Amino acid sequence: MNEYDLTGKIALVTGSSRGIGRSIAIKLGRMGARVAVNYNRGETEAKDLVGQIPHSMAFKADVADRNQVNRMAEEIHSKMGKVDIIVNNAGYWELMDFASYREEAMDRMFAVNVKGVINTVLAFLDDLKGSGVVVNIASNAGIGTAAPNTTLYSLTKAAVIMLTKRLAFDLREHHIRINAVAPGWVETDMTIGHRSSTEIADLEQYFRNRTTLNTIGQPDDIASVAAFLVSGESRYINGQVIVADGGRIDNRTHGI
Ligand code: NAP
Repeated sequence: MNEYDLTGKIALVTGSSRGIGRSIAIKLGRMGARVAVNYNRGETEAKDLVGQIPHSMAFKADVADRNQVNRMAEEIHSKMGKVDIIVNNAGYWELMDFASYREEAMDRMFAVNVKGVINTVLAFLDDLKGSGVVVNIASNAGIGTAAPNTTLYSLTKAAVIMLTKRLAFDLREHHIRINAVAPGWVETDMTIGHRSSTEIADLEQYFRNRTTLNTIGQPDDIASVAAFLVSGESRYINGQVIVADGGRIDNRTHGI
């Protein structure tokens, strides 16, 4: 039996119009899942992706908005069916040093990164009961790095990590397996979009110097971990966080 075979399963990947989510959607599609591609603003990108993944469909919802997520759940149920797998990938950051704290930015990060997970799991809770699998895309920031200007973002990802552990516990009677991936620096619009090539080169040198593998992550590096965590190969893992960051050394809990 191939534990990576997802034939017959329906997988929702939030925020999969671009970046890491897009790679995860492609990977799960290759594993045989029918994929519900969630997007917020990137309708064109989401529709383009659906053209590349057989039996997939695109669904618009801002995961921060509970009503929109509930409406998306109704739509997915009527057009595709019951969801077996959720990858909570949709995420957002605004870089700022602590002294430049902006409450609206903090609220938006919390709403998308944390409430987004809560809204989505709640909307599909009945589907997941029995054998559902959830993977949350957290961040190594949520464990504690020294990456500049990510302090406030890191709080939201620490919350995602705690939510992963607590939901695995709280939902244990329903046999829902919930784990997280904590990526390090990965090349996407979030990290390198809207930056000059000089800025990108400097930033990437900064992160290479702080990574034992001396390399920068690509979306597929994270999709591989998500694929493992949704597959039967990880059947004995629950409430855990797998860090995929090239072996970062600027960990705040272990010294720089
Ligand atoms: P990205 O390139 O900026 O893509 C973000 C994706 O999330 C887009 O598809 C976007 O969709 C979607 N999204 C954003 N807000 C949303 C909302 N409110 N509702 C629904 N979808 C929403 O980011 P990424 O780098 O791929 O990041 C993906 C996840 O990995 C995030 O949770 C991020 O925090 C986490 N992460 C990234 C890195 C990294 O280095 N890149 C490191 C650690 C963790 P639309 O364009 O359609 O709005």
